Amino acid sequence: MFCPKCGKEINDEAVVCIGCGCSVKSTQSATTAPASTHKPVPESSSTANCALLFAFLIPIVGLIMGIVGVCKYKTPSYKSKCTTAIVVSIIVWIISLAIVSSI
Ligand SMILES: [Zn+2]
Repeated sequence: MFCPKCGKEINDEAVVCIGCGCSVKSTQSATTAPASTHKPVPESSSTANCALLFAFLIPIVGLIMGIVGVCKYKTPSYKSKCTTAIVVSIIVWIISLAIVSSI
């Protein structure tokens, strides 16, 4: 092969040009992309959001979804969201019971 810089004929196996000293190693093998490490799949926040929503609308559903979410989620922010949903569900439940019993 010939050096791409100075044009001097060099050995095909050569890594560096004997004429100018520049690197002539084929870039094909050099640019091998690093093996993609399996990064954790981001968790869906849908259960946490639904639990929070239902906590206000239908406390029993919010409570169940919150418990499911706490067990399911590994992401701390989602876990705390579900814990909030459980607490809110219980509070809303107590308030609604108080309203119903006072009527
Ligand atoms: Zn050269």
